[in-house]
Amino acid sequence: MKTTRFHAAVAAIALFAIAPAASAAPAKADAPVTEAQLAEHIRILAGDAFEGRAPGTEGEDRTIAYVVGEWAKAGLVPVPDSTTPWLQPVPFVETQALSGSAKFKANGRDFAIGDDGIILTGRDASVSLVGVPAVFVGYGVDGTGKVNADVAGKLAIMLFDNAPFGDKLPRYRERRQMLADAGASAVLVISTGAVPWPALRESLGSKYMRLASAKAGAPVSGFLSPEAGDALLKAAGQDGAALREAAKSPDYKGAALPVTADFAAQSAVRPFASHNVIAKLPGAKPDGKAVLFLGHWDHLGICAPEGAADRICNGAVDNASGIAVLIEVAKRLGKGARPDRDIYFLATTAEEKGLLGAHYFADHPVVPLSDITVALNVDTIAISPRGTPVATIGRGKPAYDAVVRDAATRLGRKLDGDGEADAFIQRQDGWALGAKGVTSLMVGGSFSDMKLLEAFLGSDYHRPADNFSDKIPLGGAAEDADLHVALGRAFADTKAWSGTEK
Ligand SMILES: [Zn+2]
Repeated sequence: MKTTRFHAAVAAIALFAIAPAASAAPAKADAPVTEAQLAEHIRILAGDAFEGRAPGTEGEDRTIAYVVGEWAKAGLVPVPDSTTPWLQPVPFVETQALSGSAKFKANGRDFAIGDDGIILTGRDASVSLVGVPAVFVGYGVDGTGKVNADVAGKLAIMLFDNAPFGDKLPRYRERRQMLADAGASAVLVISTGAVPWPALRESLGSKYMRLASAKAGAPVSGFLSPEAGDALLKAAGQDGAALREAAKSPDYKGAALPVTADFAAQSAVRPFASHNVIAKLPGAKPDGKAVLFLGHWDHLGICAPEGAADRICNGAVDNASGIAVLIEVAKRLGKGARPDRDIYFLATTAEEKGLLGAHYFADHPVVPLSDITVALNVDTIAISPRGTPVATIGRGKPAYDAVVRDAATRLGRKLDGDGEADAFIQRQDGWALGAKGVTSLMVGGSFSDMKLLEAFLGSDYHRPADNFSDKIPLGGAAEDADLHVALGRAFADTKAWSGTEK
């Protein structure tokens, strides 16, 4: 980060924002958000100049300057009394593997895994472990979500995929941390066929980022390719397929392996700050409740190996599209009749590293969480064409569901009530707030047509191909943007919405 230059730029933008926004304007209908308006923001945010918007890079500087500039033009202001206007610094520690080696003994015999089958990261600058006994832990948790095996002082070998039992169980990052907290000396995650191994290797294999306030991981963490995992299990006299099958039981207790491992790893450990962007639209008649819009600005940065034709994961759909929507929503709400309640806009960092910016905001909110009447997250919204029904992740509170239904129906939208979208509830920033009791919804068409969503997740998602192009369907995103303008107005209306589920 080039901090001085950057903060000067933000301060300059802050001056413009003091200009008063239109208030007490006659209630005019909000102009519809157009596909061209969204396309322009996405083209810029997903341009190569932004380098894939990785936290802590120049791409972050550019992204923040753009988002702050657009929100200031919309009439939003920094949170009053903030010592870092527009920005919430989020302290991180990044560990970059410099070198690592693993030697295994299986049934007393040396067993080697080629460099292409394993990725290792030491937690500290230099780590050396000798003769660590191995245990295969399946998903690492049982059906109740607790660590399922004794891993203290051991190498825990865990599966990447979500556990097939129970849908509220933690994802692999959290499970890896739980094993570390339970005393594991090393955690190796067997990768999944669902994520291409070269992509995993490049995008998160050698770098590991955590909140500075978070507990440290195990002394050694890493990944095994599916093939290397199977080869190691085979050398231990086990059948990988049979072990994976056994691990599907919610009562699985893990299997000790006749394997020991020696690890040596050197790492560069770097503390740095990235930033959440936070802006406020002060309400005309604030009553202590507030609406929060959020979406993540970050993406994966340089994600393909040297020599690849395209090395940048630009994140056009994920999530330049969501930020584009939040810019246009801010412009409608900022320029039209001023809503009663305060409305906050939050662009989070490090969603791609495990919702880290959102978790940090939830731990350090600029407005008490109990005052947030609703959090509306916008992520990966450019998937569907016009006319796609509206799904809601986080449904189930009748009064809230009625507000969404009314707003959608008034815009001529149909509702999708099959609840399939809830499979994604933990995979989005709203989860960080929802887990702390904030009513957190993700509303739109992208999550109602599972075929379209799965097609994206199975192709361009988290790959350099998630580029800006005129192939990206923006019709649904434009309709969803209009819907969010309407939702902002509805939830900020002190007469029409009490602020709570009664
Ligand atoms: Zn993503």
